[in-house]
Formats: sequence, C-alpha cells, structure tokens
Amino acid sequence: MSQGKVLLVLYEGKEHAKQVPQLLGCLENELGIRKFVESHGYELVTTSDKDPEPSSTVDRELADAEIVITTPFYPAYITKTRIEKAPKLKIAITAGVGSDHVDLNAANERKITVAEVTGSNVQSVAEHVIMTMLVLVRNFVPAHQQAITGQWDIAGLAKQEFDLEDKVFATVGAGRIGFRVLERLIAFNPKKLYYYDYQELPAEAIKKLNDVSKILNGRDNIVERVESLEEIVSKSDVVTINAPLHEKTKGLFNKDLISHMKPGSYLVNTARGAICVAEDVAAALESGHLAGYGGDVWNQQPAPADHPWRSMKNPFGYGNAMTPHVSGTSLDAQARYAAGVKDILKEYFDGTHNYRPQDVIVIDGDYATRSYGDRKK
Ligand code: NAD
Repeated sequence: MSQGKVLLVLYEGKEHAKQVPQLLGCLENELGIRKFVESHGYELVTTSDKDPEPSSTVDRELADAEIVITTPFYPAYITKTRIEKAPKLKIAITAGVGSDHVDLNAANERKITVAEVTGSNVQSVAEHVIMTMLVLVRNFVPAHQQAITGQWDIAGLAKQEFDLEDKVFATVGAGRIGFRVLERLIAFNPKKLYYYDYQELPAEAIKKLNDVSKILNGRDNIVERVESLEEIVSKSDVVTINAPLHEKTKGLFNKDLISHMKPGSYLVNTARGAICVAEDVAAALESGHLAGYGGDVWNQQPAPADHPWRSMKNPFGYGNAMTPHVSGTSLDAQARYAAGVKDILKEYFDGTHNYRPQDVIVIDGDYATRSYGDRKK
C-alpha cells in the first residue's frame, strides 16, 4: 500500500534518452527521481499523454494523485477543472521556472502549494536571449542557409545586418533573467539599457551594470527605468520580454503596443508565448514594422504545424528566430532543476515544508511571490 501517488508529466526522450542519460527531463529518465520517490513509500506514475483534457492519461492519473510534477517545456495544463477533479492533490511542482501552466487562482482556492525551481535555468535562458538577438540583428539564419545551399550573395544578406553595438535595448521584466540579459549585453557596448518592471532593480544591481559599462565601454549611466510601456518600446531597437505570464501580461504585446515599437526593431520573447498575440506579431513582421521576432515559447505547446510563428517572415524573407521550447532545458539546466525538484519533494515527504522561499509561488491559499502580478493588498 503506497503512501500516495506522484504524477510526473514529461516529454518523450525516445532514442535520445538512451543515447544521453543526462537528459533527465524526459519521460524515460524521470528526472532521476524514481528510487527517491519509492524509497519514501510513494508510487511514481510517469506519462507524456497530457492532451486533450479530459480524456488523457494525465486526467485519469491526476484524479487520485497527491503530487503532480510538470515542466514548462511540455506543459500539462493543470486547469481549474482538472484541479476540481483531483481531491487528493496537495502540491504542484514545476521542473523548471514559470508555473503559469497551473491555474494559480484555482490552486489558491484549494490551498494547493505550487512550487518551482527558481533560478535553475535563468542563465540558460539569458544566453538564449543574447543568442537570439545576435541571430536576428546579424541576420544569421539566412546567411547559414546560403552557406549550406551553395549560395554566395553577400549583398542579399548585408542589406539587413547590423551590430548590437550602439543599440538601445529594453527588457520588460527585470527579475533573474531580465537582469542577466542586461548584464550580458554590456559586453556589446550598448547605447542604453532600459527596463520596465513594477519592482525596481536594487541600487547595487544598477551600480554594478553602470560600473561595468563605464570600465568596459567608457559609457556612464546606461541603465534607466522607464515607467511607461509605450515609451520604453518606442525608444528601443531591441525589446526582450522576461516577465511571467499572468492576468496582466497575457496578450500584452498586441497590435496596439507593437505599433508603438520603433519601425525596424526586434522583439525577443523567451518568457511565454501568450504574452504576445500571435497573429499581431506575425502581421507586424510580415509588414516589416518588426524586422525580427525570436524566442522559444509559444501560446500552444507543442505548437501546431500551421502555427503562424513557424512560417512568418519579414518582407526580405528574414527575421524569424523561433525554436521549440529549449532555452531553459540545456543539459546543465536539467541537472539543476532535477536536483531542485528532489529538494522540494524531500521537504514535502519529510513533512517539514521548509521550501526555499524563492521556490514557492502559491501556498496556504495566497501568492508567495510578487512576480506573478503586482498584488499589493
Ligand atoms: P523572476 O520572478 O525572477 O522575474 C520576473 C520579473 O517580471 C519580476 O521582477 C516581476 O516583477 C516582473 N514582472 C511581472 N509582471 C510584470 C509586468 N506586467 N510588467 C513588467 N514586469 C513584470 O523570474 P525569471 O526567473 O526572470 O523568469 C521570468 C519568466 O521567464 C518566468 O516566469 C517564465 O515564464 C520565463 N522562463 C522561460 C524559460 C524558457 O525556457 N523559455 C525558462 C525560465 C523562465
């Protein structure tokens, strides 16, 4: 007789899971937690069958699960209706960062704890953001395409190729990832680094960025907080989104906000696909108002084959730097979030519930973080 059930939902690793055992985040390798879970008397059920609700394996197994572990890379949406049908559910753990795939308000109503492995892949994502900026601004994808298809048309590439140096950058959301992006951008000698966030960056963080800019590039006071979203996007050559998905960020980058962006600017979104209105982004790229859009997050995951972001391009045929959701799941990141899930489980199994404060998103019926919306009481 087991103590209870742990439901783990992960993407399939197939032959890759055998080739590389460090691929912990896949169905076959189960975050490396099976023995640990079973040693605590719990049953572990692992599945990749999450859709559609209500007829998937997730629906069936969640009905009597006490713990559910999901990942943003292949999200099993823990909706209000799924929660209603899971009377034993006590904790939802995200293997990674970003718990918007759990209905947080419904979790609060039922006093279900939602925890994630905060910080586990923020460096991985920040690197992906910088890479995407480079790929777009330097027009890498079409150049690589020429290289492997026997072409050599320099003018055709250089007509939309720029430097990051001397450009103006903005991050919407300046938490762990947003700050790391700003930090890494200084190496490229930017003209200005703007940020938009209701939580101000600590003075020492701003000082660090300004000091490094002064030493490396001879530029003073490059970091500035901007309090209007329209203003920040209108001033910037490259905008990156690094805020969680919640009621106030869903659909934030719509036709109206994008119309305030500089013509020919770039938008990089590794936060969540639904922060942008997919059709509005595609239209802005197709018209050339945006020179490029890139990121790894989609409003539906896996994205359907006909999703507009798969095929959209600017009038030159460039400007698409989309990937599947991989930025936060490098092998290094997988090791970190697998270890972090184990730590959270240990606190749960031991009954101490002494979680790292930064890992707790909602607990005891309330939000434990200020990241998912400015909920000042
Ligand atoms: P964080 O909590 O450290 O920082 C998020 C910041 O966003 C906070 O400072 C918060 O105040 C700010 N914010 C919230 N709402 C905002 C709004 N309306 N406008 C402006 N700022 C707002 O989180 P983080 O570790 O930096 O991660 C941010 C998000 O990135 C995650 O929630 C997740 O959705 C996404 N993420 C994606 C991947 C990936 O693999 N693509 C991996 C990790 C995280």
